[in-house]
Amino acid sequence: MMRVSTLALVVLTIFVLARGSEIRYDGYKVVRVVPQKYEHLLALKALQGQTGHDKVDFWLAPRQVGVPVDMSMSPEVFQRLYASFSLWGIFPTVIIDDVQKLIDAQKHVNYDVEADFDYSQYHTLSEIEAWMKNITDTYTDKASLFEITKSYEARTINGIKISTSTSPDPRPAFWMEGGIHSREWISPATVIYMTGQMLDNYEALKDFVDSYDWYILPVFNVDGYVRTWNGDRMWRKTMSVHGICTGVDPNRNWDFHWNESGASSDPCSNTYAGPSAFSEIEVKEVANKIASIANLKGFIDFHSFYQYWMSPWGYTTELPKDFKDLDEGGKTACDALEAVHGTKFEHGSIANIIYVASGSSADWTYGKQDIKYSYGVELRDTGEHGYLLPADQIIPSGEETLQAVIALAKFITNNP
Ligand SMILES: [Zn+2]
Repeated sequence: MMRVSTLALVVLTIFVLARGSEIRYDGYKVVRVVPQKYEHLLALKALQGQTGHDKVDFWLAPRQVGVPVDMSMSPEVFQRLYASFSLWGIFPTVIIDDVQKLIDAQKHVNYDVEADFDYSQYHTLSEIEAWMKNITDTYTDKASLFEITKSYEARTINGIKISTSTSPDPRPAFWMEGGIHSREWISPATVIYMTGQMLDNYEALKDFVDSYDWYILPVFNVDGYVRTWNGDRMWRKTMSVHGICTGVDPNRNWDFHWNESGASSDPCSNTYAGPSAFSEIEVKEVANKIASIANLKGFIDFHSFYQYWMSPWGYTTELPKDFKDLDEGGKTACDALEAVHGTKFEHGSIANIIYVASGSSADWTYGKQDIKYSYGVELRDTGEHGYLLPADQIIPSGEETLQAVIALAKFITNNP
């Protein structure tokens, strides 16, 4: 009996520590290696297979020979791995010397909730919720809140619908979402900036805003997002519990070629596909909402980082039948984006441009919902700060991404 209750206590303690305490990254490094040959790539993939157990967090997963791989790790793990890397003949570069310093620099201090919403800062979920309520109350003739569901931890997931057109139903509609991976803070911040512009700056953007009904979900993975503010800045997954590990990768959980490849069956992995397709209430209900909207013409799921404008497929390197149009739309978006601040994005299919990943959002919206123009977009940067992009890049990211969406929306209208 004693044994059992001691064990139970230990398990409970680990559980509470894992979920409740603040995890710090003092001295953690982000290290870049560039695999020079196929053997290097295999060695890195083997290391990735141990992620979650070995405390190496892959910020950029191994893809191809010659393409950088970024990994975050403690100084101790770095020392240990440096020796292995040297044996393999790969020499790591330290990109970020102290992860915690960048984490601390990202958070605003003494945010004044009474003041106007500050688009140049990252915000907590409650600040974002207050902004959503406020902006839809301000523009009741154009915007409204829609509720999707309650999350695993019982938070409400809300979106904003912007509808200004007076033309009859069914109008063409467009879906944009941010924050499916909670640690990718630039994603919600960019979506929030664009939404603010569409309403505050409506007169200047009228043709664009009027051309679709917009369904905008700024923070998809609300539970994970709260955890990144309040527990573990590097949290990526949902918060559902699976044995001793927590969380499913919500961008591997969609019911289309689910868990075939480029996803993990290990609940401790950062790319855990879940016990079944749509096991996550958040993913299932967002999918239901998308399926309920008639006439969706565009879908964009915003992520970070590495500056890619990607289209299906993710589950295979084969290209879908609409690829020519999809990629032309991607190129149009990238060109418009680059014209703003000179930021270069690449375009292509998910599996060809990053890696094979099955069960992702854009594959499902394209493959199951026939939304021809479905994209996954990786926002700034290319690794200098990675997930920890400084707040002074929020507005530049918002400005350039908005121009990309404007150009893409027009392209879609002209190339149905
Ligand atoms: Zn992501």
